[in-house]
Amino acid sequence: ASQLRYLARLSVKYKENPEDKMQAWQIHSYGNLDELKLSTVRMPVITKPTEVLIKVEASSVNPIDVAMMKGYGAMALNLMRKAKNVNNINSSGIEFPLIMGRDFSGVVISKGHGVGDRLKLGDKVWGVVSIEQQGCHSSHVVVDNSMVNPRPENLSYIEAASILYAGLTAWSALWWCGGLSYKTSIATRMNRRMLVLGGSGGVGTLAIQLLKAWNMHVITTCSSDAVNVLKKLGADVVIDYKQDDADRKIFEEGPYDIILDCCNQGIEQAKAKGYQHESYITLNSPLLKNLDEHGLIGGMIRNISDFCKHNLPKAENKSTLKWAFFTPSSEGLNMIQEFVENGKLVPVVKKVYPFQELPKAYERVSLGHLRGKIVIDMK
Ligand code: NDP
Repeated sequence: ASQLRYLARLSVKYKENPEDKMQAWQIHSYGNLDELKLSTVRMPVITKPTEVLIKVEASSVNPIDVAMMKGYGAMALNLMRKAKNVNNINSSGIEFPLIMGRDFSGVVISKGHGVGDRLKLGDKVWGVVSIEQQGCHSSHVVVDNSMVNPRPENLSYIEAASILYAGLTAWSALWWCGGLSYKTSIATRMNRRMLVLGGSGGVGTLAIQLLKAWNMHVITTCSSDAVNVLKKLGADVVIDYKQDDADRKIFEEGPYDIILDCCNQGIEQAKAKGYQHESYITLNSPLLKNLDEHGLIGGMIRNISDFCKHNLPKAENKSTLKWAFFTPSSEGLNMIQEFVENGKLVPVVKKVYPFQELPKAYERVSLGHLRGKIVIDMK
């Protein structure tokens, strides 16, 4: 009886303290937009000395949020959650209730003792959340401080929320997968020919700007209504992919050092159209899908076979296929920060939705044909 009285007292205390609660868009099972529910839930807590608690002010919506809502990557992500014993995922390793949302701007409201002076309480910040962790489509989120930086002063909180997930995807695709990290001198980078397929979307607009900041020659494709925007972002050649002579123009601009595929066109099409290239980097690998559909062993066998299919017959072909992924990297974060602060990288925000209307934002992202980013305003 005394224990019950104690629990009752605790629950009264809990109800009376709104500080312990937050608003979050959660799903309790995979499915469509109806699964998204706005709930008042317990606020996440700092469990590691290097973590910070952020009051989220804005966050972007990415195709991965819509895909995860439908169950994409569940098998691999649950393995990662179990392996890392991720904070805020319940101890059985099961992901529900699950919050999506991978990048944010916000304010530091609490921090672990290992964070030091790098971030102070009240600092305006921007950052990303690793893919296996609970996301930031909620009023608060806990993340490791290495994934958080002071927000650049030349960005509003809305603009800051639009850059990092797509930016770190473009950065890791080009810097690591594309090998630009070891082609360090400006001379070796200058005038390398880079083709960005799908330059008008979230990742494409940032990939173009990163490549220009690294002194590359950038050719990109998009629909006619986006041509001027991409020219303004610095693309050297913009080809309207809906025009009859687009394939000929793309062919004639080659050969390319790298083709970065931001629109899931696929290497088969590029080969069929005769585009010459050293590396073809796609953001739409079959890796997670194979694991979802065929389990761990079957999925891994398919992954090896899919990867080898385009990478083994090098003698006659000489080109390679690479699969790129969003990487939460402090090196990438710092580089993007520097480019934003010196004006080499600017945000492209398509539309802002209030937090209460988040399902409309997911719907807009799933309709496609975006020009830049969709952002959720949580202030
Ligand atoms: P967006 O939807 O913002 O952009 C895609 C863009 O491609 C749209 O602007 C679309 O405009 C354009 N497009 C579509 N078809 C073509 C075509 N044939 N030629 C040229 N442009 C075309 O998506 P994101 O930029 O956020 O992401 C790009 C892709 O990368 C997505 O498929 C996403 O799932 C994937 N991704 C993967 C990540 C990973 O970790 N592996 C991380 C982030 C993204 P329009 O149709 O009007 O021409």
